[in-house]
Amino acid sequence: MDIHEYQAKELLKRFGVQVPRGGIAYSPEQAVYRASELSGERWVVKAQIHSGARGKAGGVRICSTEEEISDAAHWMLGRRLVTHQTGPQGKLVGRLYVEEATNIAQEIYLGLVMDRKLERVVVVASAQGGMEIEEISANEPDSIIRSVVDPAVGMQAFQAREIAFSLGLEPPMIAQAVKTILGCYALMSEMDANMVEINPMVVTRSGEIVALDAKISFDDNALFRRPEISELRDKSQEDSRETFAEDRGLSYIGLEGEIGCIVNGAGLAMATLDMIKMSGGEPANFLDVGGGASPDRVLMSFKAVLNDPNVEAILVNIFAGINRCDWIAEGVVRAMRELELQMPVVVRLSGTNVEEGRKILAESGLAVIPAETLADAADKVVGAWKDAKFKEAS
Ligand code: GDP
Ligand code: MN
Repeated sequence: MDIHEYQAKELLKRFGVQVPRGGIAYSPEQAVYRASELSGERWVVKAQIHSGARGKAGGVRICSTEEEISDAAHWMLGRRLVTHQTGPQGKLVGRLYVEEATNIAQEIYLGLVMDRKLERVVVVASAQGGMEIEEISANEPDSIIRSVVDPAVGMQAFQAREIAFSLGLEPPMIAQAVKTILGCYALMSEMDANMVEINPMVVTRSGEIVALDAKISFDDNALFRRPEISELRDKSQEDSRETFAEDRGLSYIGLEGEIGCIVNGAGLAMATLDMIKMSGGEPANFLDVGGGASPDRVLMSFKAVLNDPNVEAILVNIFAGINRCDWIAEGVVRAMRELELQMPVVVRLSGTNVEEGRKILAESGLAVIPAETLADAADKVVGAWKDAKFKEAS
């Protein structure tokens, strides 16, 4: 789960990391008022969306008058801001963060990530901050410092000091940088985050280290024991298709294609996506109905798949062990009737109660396309989808 920049900064502050003073605003008037509370001469108005690269998209504006703040806020609020991380549909700006502006002397990159291969937290840093880490590794690969944390002892002060020295920081800044790095690590381990990224961490003209931007992602599997973090969730920033499925206990990931998939088991679901691609189609989603799926659950899966307006054909692929093909078939029939499905539906059933399942489908009088094997199913759904498209076009 991702959180907003202002929420991340609030947390970082608690862990001893210095952040600029700021306040949240939901309207242009409130943004102007926030700036007046902060005093100072220049302010930054920042669109709060779950994405980086807002600056290049107009989502970070430095202002020196009330009018500029109000104009920036008018422009941002209610807009779907498109960055190269959001996809073409962008993300809705519902709130702004207004901060006192910082005078920057140097921008540094600092990131802490969970490296799954090493099974350890890795600190990544570069004196060439401001650009994204992908750009840094493409343009300035030699500037990147990597430091692996031993989980048995956690991040040690000497290790943080080493990173600070490698960044080439002046001696007066070292202690502050160490505090920042240790603070990020403590937050990460105590709050079950799997990524903390400060980009940029800046050295100010007055010689201070400040986290100017902050991105934190949390481990979804640990949220049950972090109610305070769960509360920070903002569903308006998430893929609505995924939220719908997740709220109903379905394992669903939205993709870009037209073939909707309902499959049991994560492995078979992945294989199904590959087979659809090999047959010349593009899957619209990954969906694992799980084991022992009731007809209700199958109906719910159809609803989840059909939430995606790009879906033009559906493939149900079940290799039933704990599942029962007759329940699946009942679910398919109910879904096709209740949702008045017009698009092609291909169903491949195999395993427990397969005969009963096939019988239910055959006797339903519905235009279900049966398939024998996975390859056959993928070919049929892509073929039926193309036929339907061709018919529509002519
Ligand atoms: P991002 O584009 O979503 O990563 O948003 P950031 O918060 O990182 O802001 C983008 C860039 O705007 C930063 O790299 C800075 O160069 C600039 N910026 C942000 N806040 C300030 C500020 O207070 N003062 C100055 N001078 N520049 C800022
Ligand atoms: Mn940034």
